[in-house]
Amino acid sequence: VAQRVSVIGLGAMGTALAKALLAGGHEVTVWNRTPARAEALAADGAQVAASSAEAMAAADLVILCVLDDAAVREHLEPAAAQVRGKVVVNLTTTSPEQARALGRWAAAQQVELIDGGIMAVPEMIGGPAAFVLYSGASAGFERFRAVLELFGRAEFVGADLGAAAMYDVSILGGMYAMFAAFRQGGAMVRSTGGSAARLAALMGPFLQAMASLLEGYAPGIDNPADYVQQQSDEFTAAAIDLIDKSAAESGNPTQLYTVLRDGLTGL
Ligand code: NDP
Repeated sequence: VAQRVSVIGLGAMGTALAKALLAGGHEVTVWNRTPARAEALAADGAQVAASSAEAMAAADLVILCVLDDAAVREHLEPAAAQVRGKVVVNLTTTSPEQARALGRWAAAQQVELIDGGIMAVPEMIGGPAAFVLYSGASAGFERFRAVLELFGRAEFVGADLGAAAMYDVSILGGMYAMFAAFRQGGAMVRSTGGSAARLAALMGPFLQAMASLLEGYAPGIDNPADYVQQQSDEFTAAAIDLIDKSAAESGNPTQLYTVLRDGLTGL
């Protein structure tokens, strides 16, 4: 069923979202602060609104994808009348508490607010590897699930509006830790005449195998009373000390490993 959807914000991500909606056959209205960015979408069949409020008025499902929380509020708050009774999905990256605060505003305006965290770069939108985390108004999510699935797999992670952002940053934390260790490891193996390319070929499959163990550790984190330690702290400390020592020997920074050892939240 074709739905009336508006997209506020046509940066790299908003443009990808609007394209996916058009490809899915929906009636898409777009608005961007810099109007020129709407031109290509207009040629693809999108309606271009003269203001953000006008774009919101034209749709049953309103999607925002702008820079930050302040930009979202700048456009949503004056348009309360245009979004009342509607489903609003905020795909702008915000903190969990910013999402909850916007939720308090939305509840007072009878707006069904959903917060989203996009786990993809714009080029991946609509492709098989993309997924988007959603939290907040579950009825609104179910109502528009088929539309939201056009962006990538839609994962509803909880009624707490802060949940999507919290899962989002947690996943990104894992990603940044991995990239930091790879970058550092590349420098370390180069000190032996090796290469980051060889390290990537060896480290990639090993990390994939390790990633497959995460689910097995989850029950002990969900129920700390049932936590069964896999490795002794002594074993983990010795392993991390060795990484730290090898980094120092090759003239590389050691802060990354100091943090791990001090936290000792091994396995
Ligand atoms: P871009 O920098 O490409 O675009 C930013 C958009 O925000 C532009 O449309 C810009 O308008 C608009 N904007 C900024 N300030 C305001 C304002 N005060 N009022 C109205 N519009 C404003 O960023 P992206 O499209 O990549 O990112 C958008 C959101 O998506 C961000 O929250 C980002 O974290 C999130 N995201 C992006 C990912 C990515 O890989 N790119 C991945 C996951 C999430 P103008 O054209 O006029 O400057």
